[in-house]
Amino acid sequence: MGRKLTCCVPWRATLSKGIIEVGATSGERIGVYPGTFDPITLGHADIIRRGAKLVDRLIIGVTTNISKNPMFSPDERIAMVRREVAAMGLTNVEVVGFNALLMKFAEKQGASMILRGLRAVADFEYEYQMAGMNQQLNARIETVFLMADVSLQPIASKLVKEIALFGGDITRFVSPAVRADVVDRVHANGRLGDED
Ligand code: ADP
Repeated sequence: MGRKLTCCVPWRATLSKGIIEVGATSGERIGVYPGTFDPITLGHADIIRRGAKLVDRLIIGVTTNISKNPMFSPDERIAMVRREVAAMGLTNVEVVGFNALLMKFAEKQGASMILRGLRAVADFEYEYQMAGMNQQLNARIETVFLMADVSLQPIASKLVKEIALFGGDITRFVSPAVRADVVDRVHANGRLGDED
């Protein structure tokens, strides 16, 4: 199954122009955690919590240029992630929208690492390829993979939306605030399946 993450969408064009040189570095260790977050789940939140301990500053990059029809607009996704981060009490985490090549975004933020979550074998091939190509674009930015708590590993935004669209209970997969947002959106757009 093809993954939708857009952090590398323009990579081919950029690759053909050659290797991207690294940008500014500061004394701080800065990490970028990119994703779609449509919507942010408890799996994402766990990766954020773990990642925030590894760096001085964690920048969550919310992609705004996804090709699929997202349930939430870029501004809504950014606001949701900000609200979740605030609720988690993490003070070294920022949330930024981006519509660019991931390595350029990371470079601009002064990051030395990209954080990614690994769920199962299904994630591995895509992540392996992306990390390998990103390494060639900028050898000074490392991709670091984290695993969420075992109970949170199966969670995927796509499945959360599917369950909600058919009237299923998503309480175990997202925060109460995100659940309310998803349920509202499903009601606004119309539920699928039997009304039981
Ligand atoms: P999704 O694939 O759920 O739509 P994103 O594109 O927003 O999510 O994913 C952003 C990053 O978070 C990716 O590295 C993805 O593998 C990771 N991630 C998402 N859900 C989980 C989870 N339950 N456990 C670990 N990592 C996750």
